Amino acid sequence: MGKRCPLCGGRLEEKTATLPFVVGDTVVIVKGVAAEVCEDCGEAFLGGKVADEVTALLQDAVHRGVELSVVTLSPAPASS
Ligand SMILES: [Zn+2]
Repeated sequence: MGKRCPLCGGRLEEKTATLPFVVGDTVVIVKGVAAEVCEDCGEAFLGGKVADEVTALLQDAVHRGVELSVVTLSPAPASS
């Protein structure tokens, strides 16, 4: 609550998003990404842990040389 988009100042909403990532010739569409999404400009901001998971997925896809991959992140376990 109360977080603001650093790009446009819009309100950030925590949601589970489907986000496309492009790395070179590889396109990876990641579903189930827990992100804070700006209501105004639509920019999505990932938390550190989620960003790490997405980065690992992207690196794996690039390493395998896939052109298009659709993956679903497993829900993060509830942290105590
Ligand atoms: Zn924004």
